[in-house]
Amino acid sequence: MSSSSSVKVCVRLRPLNKREKRGNTMPVVTANTEKCEINVVKGLSTKATRHGFNFDSVFSEFSTQEEVFNQTLLPIVGQVMKGFEATVFAYGQTGTGKTYTMEGDITVDSQRGVIPRSCESIFDQLQNSGKFSDFNVSVSYLEIYNEELSDLLVEKGKNLRICEQRGKIHCMGLSETNVNSTEEIISIIQKAQERRQVAETKMNRASSRSHCLFTLRVISKEKVADGIIEREGKLHLVDLAG
Ligand code: ADP
Ligand code: MG
Repeated sequence: MSSSSSVKVCVRLRPLNKREKRGNTMPVVTANTEKCEINVVKGLSTKATRHGFNFDSVFSEFSTQEEVFNQTLLPIVGQVMKGFEATVFAYGQTGTGKTYTMEGDITVDSQRGVIPRSCESIFDQLQNSGKFSDFNVSVSYLEIYNEELSDLLVEKGKNLRICEQRGKIHCMGLSETNVNSTEEIISIIQKAQERRQVAETKMNRASSRSHCLFTLRVISKEKVADGIIEREGKLHLVDLAG
């Protein structure tokens, strides 16, 4: 894939968990972050074969949440601020670190994933760059469990429906909440997570079967010599099921 491609693929390896360490699990994949390459080892000792695969970025078990954000989301946030629409999602089987990468532990600064960090970066640019005369940020949070759609930002949601309008996919009935700071978004995400957990317990469902789409809409006004430029960008951050 060329580096100018509009689709970028990054890989992150997570550390071995306690169970894997106890079982003396040997990692079969190694990461070379500088070469943006991972190596997969198949077979044992003399019969072992190695296959290298290249990606746009590679993160090892030692990569921090901050490094992942800086190399993946930060440039995309820049594009969203310019008025583009972008989607980022984590893909992988259960327990590989998708939710850790997307959300992380939002209560601990160093453990925050790319969702809270993107919000922080957007508000920082809007409030502190001195470029914008006005702005409006709103969020929506949709959960898709099998075929069932739920609005994670409201207590009792309306019936939601996915439809296509002028070539664009919309979720009819999904609420949008205006937000003024990262802290406000964090508390909204926390409330949404609680709502999701209640639904999970009550209905005996598993989080590994639901997709969560968190969307930020950013409208900004920038004063230039001969008028005002108004931009609207969107960022979809998806924590996929699995
Ligand atoms: P998934 O969402 O893909 O099912 P999780 O994000 O829930 O996986 O990760 C599974 C477990 O591994 C969690 O306890 C998480 O905190 C931990 N984990 C995942 N990635 C990392 C990482 N890079 N560093 C430390 N712990 C991690
Ligand atoms: Mg998960």
